[in-house]
Amino acid sequence: MTPEEFRKAGHQLIDWIADYRSGIEQMPVRAQVQPGEVKNSFERSAPDNRAPFGELIDLLDARVIKGITQVQSPMHFGWFPSNASLASVLGDIASSGLGALGISWESCPSLTEVEEVTVDWMRQLVGLSDQWRGTIHDTASTACLTALLAAREKAGKFCLQHGGLQALPDALVVYTTEEAHSSVEKSALLAGFGRDNLRMVQMDTNTRAMSPNALALAIDDDLRLGRVPTAVVASCGSTGVTAFDPIADIVNIAASHSIWVHVDAAMAGTAMMLPEYRHLWDGVEGADSISWNPHKWMGTILDTSLFFVRDPQHLIRVMSTNPSYLQSNVDGEATQYRDWGIPLGRRFRSLKLWFHLHLDGAEAIRDRLRRDLENANWLAEQVTANPDWELVSPLTLQTVCVRHNPGNLGSAALDQHTLEWVRQINDSGTAFMSPSQHNGEWIVRVSIGVESTQRKHVETLWQLMQDTAGGY
Ligand code: PLP
Repeated sequence: MTPEEFRKAGHQLIDWIADYRSGIEQMPVRAQVQPGEVKNSFERSAPDNRAPFGELIDLLDARVIKGITQVQSPMHFGWFPSNASLASVLGDIASSGLGALGISWESCPSLTEVEEVTVDWMRQLVGLSDQWRGTIHDTASTACLTALLAAREKAGKFCLQHGGLQALPDALVVYTTEEAHSSVEKSALLAGFGRDNLRMVQMDTNTRAMSPNALALAIDDDLRLGRVPTAVVASCGSTGVTAFDPIADIVNIAASHSIWVHVDAAMAGTAMMLPEYRHLWDGVEGADSISWNPHKWMGTILDTSLFFVRDPQHLIRVMSTNPSYLQSNVDGEATQYRDWGIPLGRRFRSLKLWFHLHLDGAEAIRDRLRRDLENANWLAEQVTANPDWELVSPLTLQTVCVRHNPGNLGSAALDQHTLEWVRQINDSGTAFMSPSQHNGEWIVRVSIGVESTQRKHVETLWQLMQDTAGGY
């Protein structure tokens, strides 16, 4: 494709995206396909001949759109918001268009330095001190794995340079809770700790926040048995019920044993843009690393996950490789982000943040977050005021966890009822919510926070929930 052909097709594509986004409210929220349906609508082998661009757009409309769950729809209340602000989409296009290669500072100084600047803006926006430095990873899962690798090497005295974990005399232990995101368990397993050395610390039964006493006891037990307490992963806004582990207590306990504390603020990092919510991560300055996904509620398009550390030199020592073909005469002077994570080649991801912040502005983003919090509060009030409904966990941010409980159902029947009414709504395509298990029982998470979701959408949803749960 020549630049001139690109110009023409690009205009068409932008028009198509703008039309798609304007019409999204009219589309079914959940993808309307069966497994294999999208795959089977494609040719078995790659096209040999050039096709006109318009044909591709038609195919997108005919074959791809129906296989998308419309997470940008104002009636999407599932999982967590995965906003993709159009301002950041432009940044993504700019990033792709430049085709820059981030394998070293030298391969694209701007890629490195715009990342340094924008990540530092983000640090300031959530009120973190200048003791933190950060980078952009693809996901919070990668950030958590990176944190646990760094923790492992701190406790294991850089065992990767010798016999690795296999040569350590004592087991290294990670602490988290059942409420933590599944990526924490996955990271601990992939980092080689082993399931036997992953402690699920007890939680407060109401808030599902980690109990500091239980953490201290678990650490003492492990020390007594000759194991090495290595890392605590604290949830700052868990996926299930947006639980907040008591970070100040956790860092105090961890500090006396030199244990690494990673704060998983993938979702709730965004709330820290609002000073009135920062008490929820009190003590965070004492942690060693933090992950936060602007690609969730804040709205910078995937994949934009921030990873902050207090000691980049430690991370670099763990992650660094220095093959001759990547050496340059600025080594030692410039940041080499390949040494801050796992991949070598990196995209110009910071342009997404830069465009988003420039074109939308932090103030408008903060206003939107406050709107969502008010909408969640409104829904929680309706639920609390209705005797047939329960708020199953305290509302902490914008995800309202509910159950319709008419009071005459045993626990198995209540579970069935919950799954049935939410299935009916999700199948209808009118709205989408995520059922999930809470203390072993099925509940429904209503996660408010899509950019275009206004109060009227939440009102429509509440009516739909009442009509469906009360009327089938
Ligand atoms: N941590 C929490 C609290 C999450 O809610 C999620 C995803 O929803 C993750 C981590 C994983 O995020 P990612 O998809 O960026 O790996």
